[in-house]
Amino acid sequence: MAKLNLKSITREAKKEIERSKNLKDLDFIFKKYLGKKSEVSQALRLFKDLSGKEKQKIGKEINTFKNSFKKEIKNKIERIKKEDNKVSGKKDWFDITIPGKKIESGHLHPLTMTKRRIEEIFQKMGFEIAQGSEIETAWYNFDALNIPTDHPARDAWNTLWLKEKDKNGEQFLLRTHTSPMQIHYMEKHNPPLRLIVPGKTFRREATDASHNFQFYQVEGLMVDKNVSIPHLKAVISNFFRLFFNKKVEVRLRPDFFPFTEPSFEISMSCLACGGKGCKVCKKTGWLEMGGSGMIHPNVLKACKLDPKKWQGWAFGFGWDRLAMMRYKIKEIRMFNAGNLRFLKQF
Ligand SMILES: [Zn+2]
Repeated sequence: MAKLNLKSITREAKKEIERSKNLKDLDFIFKKYLGKKSEVSQALRLFKDLSGKEKQKIGKEINTFKNSFKKEIKNKIERIKKEDNKVSGKKDWFDITIPGKKIESGHLHPLTMTKRRIEEIFQKMGFEIAQGSEIETAWYNFDALNIPTDHPARDAWNTLWLKEKDKNGEQFLLRTHTSPMQIHYMEKHNPPLRLIVPGKTFRREATDASHNFQFYQVEGLMVDKNVSIPHLKAVISNFFRLFFNKKVEVRLRPDFFPFTEPSFEISMSCLACGGKGCKVCKKTGWLEMGGSGMIHPNVLKACKLDPKKWQGWAFGFGWDRLAMMRYKIKEIRMFNAGNLRFLKQF
């Protein structure tokens, strides 16, 4: 066995540790003195050839060297870390070479994207956008819209009433439709008017795949001197064509709403079958989209507009339903479920 000069090795190692500037240097020094190819490791490989006495002596010396060497390295690491902290001004030491965490960027909710698309289309047709308040009084939600207290339509709305009252003692409620904004807007603006109101609406309803207690409506309104049903049909047809980017037929059928006279149900030719009849449209070829009609003279009167001078139409449909059709979503409750696996698909 070659003579292992541990004294000089110890001295050399100590000097090198002293001169080292960073952890990389220390790693190199550690490998040099205790790595596989180091003098110490080579000596240990020949250890078995030594006599018992020699084994004991050299073994002890090597252990002493190893322990002091490791201690020197450890102390130096501490000193380097302290030095780094002083430079960076931070209490905890960190390795600046570790790659950073990637920040995930989010995106708009499918309902928001749908809302923006609706707004964009109507704005191009010259409509203004109003938001309206989600809390209303019975006057704006019902009475001004020709739904008096004893009107049967009032039962169908399953209203969520609030405890608070306004200064006139009128009880507040969560709006059951976006139509109250029609009244607010007509009170403050003079015709001619072209307006859409996209917003949240609330009804006390049991939830299922196509119903929720909070849902989204878009209300449309046009008031002028010579406004008629053909204008309504043209605007709605144009909207659906642009929204779905497909040629669609629009059908109006008589219906009843207290705030319009005459009133119509709006249907659109089925997107899935093109009107031939399929499962989606229950073999009718048509999809029911919402309601519409000529604004009732009583509603105009409630807004202090003369029904002999002004006329207009209004429509309303659920834009969560539009979003469901646009993205082929079968469950309305998914929109508000906070499920990231669902939301990340859009
Ligand atoms: Zn169909």
